[in-house]
Amino acid sequence: MAGTLRLILGDQLSPGISSLSDANKSADTVLMAEVSGEATYVRHHKKKIAFLFAAMRHFAEELAGKGFRVRYTRIADEENDGTLRKEVRRALEEGDFDRVVVTKPGEYRLLKDMQQWESVLGVPVELREDDRFICSVNEFAAWAEDRKSLRMEFFYREMRRKTGLLMDGAEPEGGAWNFDQDNRKSLPKSVTPPPRATSEPDEITCGAIEDVRARFDNHFGDLEPFWYATRRAEAERIFEAFASDILPCFGDYQDAMAVGKPWLWHGVIGLYLNCGLLDPLKVCQRAEQAYRDGRAPLNAVEGFIRQILGWREYVRGLYWLKMPAYRSMNALEADRKLPDFYWTAETDMTCMAEAIGQTRRHAYAHHIQRLMVTGNFALLAGIHPDEINEWYLIVYADAYEWVELPNTHGMAIFADGGIMASKPYAASANYINKMSDYCKSCRYSHTKKTGEGACPFNYLYWDFLARNQERLSSNGRMGLVYKNLEKKDAGELSAMREQAKDFLDSIGAVPRG
Ligand code: FAD
Ligand code: SF4
Repeated sequence: MAGTLRLILGDQLSPGISSLSDANKSADTVLMAEVSGEATYVRHHKKKIAFLFAAMRHFAEELAGKGFRVRYTRIADEENDGTLRKEVRRALEEGDFDRVVVTKPGEYRLLKDMQQWESVLGVPVELREDDRFICSVNEFAAWAEDRKSLRMEFFYREMRRKTGLLMDGAEPEGGAWNFDQDNRKSLPKSVTPPPRATSEPDEITCGAIEDVRARFDNHFGDLEPFWYATRRAEAERIFEAFASDILPCFGDYQDAMAVGKPWLWHGVIGLYLNCGLLDPLKVCQRAEQAYRDGRAPLNAVEGFIRQILGWREYVRGLYWLKMPAYRSMNALEADRKLPDFYWTAETDMTCMAEAIGQTRRHAYAHHIQRLMVTGNFALLAGIHPDEINEWYLIVYADAYEWVELPNTHGMAIFADGGIMASKPYAASANYINKMSDYCKSCRYSHTKKTGEGACPFNYLYWDFLARNQERLSSNGRMGLVYKNLEKKDAGELSAMREQAKDFLDSIGAVPRG
């Protein structure tokens, strides 16, 4: 009897994935494939590739242990055809299958490719919804329909009502939907971030690390030390350690940054959520439990749940609502090349060196580093969206286009002209100094606006405002900022703009031409 070929992608490592829901273990085969096409279409961080290959291998083992027949192609296998489409074709040629079932991928590029598979492969190909999200693509589209403004905050309230998370009857727990005003503390010297739970690489993970070393050694980033979990039980253990020991302070220092302290009180769970090792709803429910048990305060738990139930679901809905046009938007006509130090971390700007350096080491930076340091710099410098989007997709272990693109394109660089954010997150050194200790050890002065030793974020900030005055000054939320620009001494402004141009040229952030 012919069976069904069930393809599982590298970010679909969930036992409840829709492509397996009606599997017949005695007739069907699960196909998993490590293909160079996916690992290199952008040159992903070495640690990200090793993490995913190791997690895939463990998931294949998990499925085999449950009685599934698994056909697994490793990156090193001689017959490996290098792309998902070709691996599906090879499996169809070598087995007896009358259809292919796959859960829709998280990327528009791959979805478009899969939509052609039925005609090119000559068998029915069923593309199923990815129902691991709390809000479906259709539900988001229905929410967005006829709305003038697609702000996350309103969507988030709907999700709270829908799930009942942190609700007190029809009202939000604690009488407010959002406790962000309590979550903007900088890190006092006397407070030390807690140690993190780590996972020791086992034989399977070490094998994946060696395969990546052999094939992708010229990709960005450090492969080792490697301590991310690659098995579900380990990811759950690490999350549990976070929920019981770290979550209580998540809110307080959510926006803080500090030299040599990459994790602070963040979850460091994006990589597990996005490949299916952790379940977003369960994670939110566990956080709520910590609050109900009196073990974590409301500002921490609400802040944490909002990131997942609000932001994560929202950006996914927005991505599928707006693609493919979204990707090519460039509202601020940014046109410069990405400076080389985004890859090397070699810059005298301590904030950038810290954020990029830890990104190289861990394939991780927390939200404020991504948004207000590397993202803010790209916004102020006018880096072309394609260059900066590709960088973010490459460098983070949790990066997939559905979540990376709206965050970068919409939130960090305002390339979507305000669909996602009501105004650009542009900031001078003042913000970075307020939220971090970076400026203390920097060669630049955060208070100086021009001349030798002035912080580049300062003159780039004013240059950004002046350059985009026509586009942004009518934005109500930018009114005060543009009033300040108008009050600026013309000589000082032109000196800052001159210095901005010289600086950008000197770091290779030149127009793409
Ligand atoms: P925590 O601070 O502990 O938050 C918990 C979880 O909430 C995260 O793991 C994540 O799943 C979710 N979350 C928080 N903020 C967001 C957000 N803005 N959008 C979606 N989910 C969110 N997140 C990714 O998962 N992949 C990306 O490729 C990615 N690229 C980003 C690029 C830019 C320019 C910016 C500004 C943000 C990006 N984010 C991305 C969002 C956020 O920075 C990361 O989810 C977060 O830093 C992951 O670390 P964490 O697990 O410690 O998060
Ligand atoms: Fe960054 Fe400027 Fe502060 Fe240096 S002085 S750390 S460049 S904000």
